[in-house]
Amino acid sequence: MGLTACGTTYELPTLGEPQTQKAASLFAEARQEGPRRQLSNSAAEARFARVARKVSPVGKAVCEQASAGKVGVNCNVQVAIDRDMAERNAYFTYVDQQPVIRLSMPLLRDTANDDEAAFVMSHEYGHLIGRHIEKKQQQALAGALLLGVIAAAATAQSTPYGSTYDSSLVSDSMELGAAAGKMAYSQSYELESDTLGTRIAYAAGYDPTAGAKFFARPESAKASAGKLSFWGTHPPDAKRVATVLATVDQINAKVGLKKVSN
Ligand SMILES: [Zn+2]
Repeated sequence: MGLTACGTTYELPTLGEPQTQKAASLFAEARQEGPRRQLSNSAAEARFARVARKVSPVGKAVCEQASAGKVGVNCNVQVAIDRDMAERNAYFTYVDQQPVIRLSMPLLRDTANDDEAAFVMSHEYGHLIGRHIEKKQQQALAGALLLGVIAAAATAQSTPYGSTYDSSLVSDSMELGAAAGKMAYSQSYELESDTLGTRIAYAAGYDPTAGAKFFARPESAKASAGKLSFWGTHPPDAKRVATVLATVDQINAKVGLKKVSN
């Protein structure tokens, strides 16, 4: 089953003037808000359980619908709290072959309402459904191979016994290629996850616009320990809020999710 190696799988909504303007004011509003009250651990756990119960079945259904006919897509995500992570963050990954979504305890304690926790969780489902890890791996591999070939060609020397090349230069280039491939499309993947996440959060009974305010907050990209926070891995941007608003408009106009035609 072929994956498109670079672009998004689904069409991102077109952003119109009204959405862009409203997004800019919501974005500015989120930046004005003062520090939040932190939930207790037990209240954060209760919020997580409540939200996971509603979001998980919808995320699974959207995943199954999106991957109909594809072999090897596992939509049975294990959604849990990451109790070891000290930063406010959330992520989607695979543990062995098992897809997992984790929200850290500090992130949950920092959410202002269920809509925010639901939006973060739904957004992470978007990374699964958009096949972003698989695409990143393909890009990294393609980038590494390309730069490796260029370096090999540049350093190849003719000897009486054939061509040789500097293998250390090739492996440096392969690492560089891998890093460049990982960064190249991250913003379009985040927007795709936002658009998928908006649909999932809405269908699960939450307000995606209220939820997306979590992303718009003026927070440091790094936690005190120097590791990236959620706002480091998800740079806040009014375009993200506009994408959420435009997706809500599509839902209200009964416009379904469309695949990118290529
Ligand atoms: Zn993301």
